[in-house]
Amino acid sequence: MKAIAIDIGGSHAVCAVVDDRRILAAEHVAVPDTTSFAKLLPELAAATTAALGSCGLKTTDCAGVAVSFPGIVDPFSARIFSTPKGKYDDSNTVDLNAWSRDCFGLPLRIENDARMALLGEQYCGGLAGCNDAVMLTLGTGVGGAVSMGGRLLRGKHFQAGLGGHIPVLFRGRACICGSRGCVESEASTWALPEICRAWPGFAVSALASEKVLDFATLFRWSAARDPVALEVRDRCLTVWASGIVGLIHSFDPEAVAIGGAVMKSADQILPFIEDYVHKHAWTPWGKVRIAAAALGPDAGLLGAAPLLGEPC
Ligand SMILES: [Zn+2]
Repeated sequence: MKAIAIDIGGSHAVCAVVDDRRILAAEHVAVPDTTSFAKLLPELAAATTAALGSCGLKTTDCAGVAVSFPGIVDPFSARIFSTPKGKYDDSNTVDLNAWSRDCFGLPLRIENDARMALLGEQYCGGLAGCNDAVMLTLGTGVGGAVSMGGRLLRGKHFQAGLGGHIPVLFRGRACICGSRGCVESEASTWALPEICRAWPGFAVSALASEKVLDFATLFRWSAARDPVALEVRDRCLTVWASGIVGLIHSFDPEAVAIGGAVMKSADQILPFIEDYVHKHAWTPWGKVRIAAAALGPDAGLLGAAPLLGEPC
């Protein structure tokens, strides 16, 4: 199946043409801080047309448009219920089905980005052949998705398996979802600067001289054995691992894949999480496989064919 695959992130979007398990062409679109969703759509249409042109295809060669979006969405009506903080606030006023019909003459489906990554990983990545799986994506926020019996678990209101909002500390930091002590508010890129600055000893730590306090910075200084960086890193790793134990106890998966930009430091993340999960998850049958997502940033695009092939 050939399809148009559009992966919308917080700071950039990718418009691609896929043929089942292959990406034929991809065009990148930068998303400025101030961009509204309505203003982004013409840029996405232009980039998609360029991607089609570069592989010599027309819209009529494609079965549909699959959109990966960082929020809570209804894949079938293409409604968007929640957006990332400060981004795309006008998206609930946009008729994506009409946009796709007008621009491409094609049906459209939209899905949460973590679910798209899970679909892609199951279709042709590290979760191939695994019907019962959990995906956690570590980035600006923490995404989560669950597949049971080979089908995405969505729930009544499309919120099932949102692993980033599993509470791990009931008196923890306030989260964007309204809860406290979520995996996301305790260990995500948006939460990290505040976590670091509040840490005892931060002022004399190497982290204090950094302009950008993201996970790349944290893992660089923890690899250099900065004591505060090591403590903050281990706390974040424990938060993620604890959330994964919660997901395992909730959904009984065979495997957990961890993706997202933060996994560039997988060498410091995976061994810790594997060790913690194998020690603390209640799995008398054996051990849940914990793996880094295999497809990296392509996972969401390669979820296009399975999403469009899914019955309504
Ligand atoms: Zn939350």
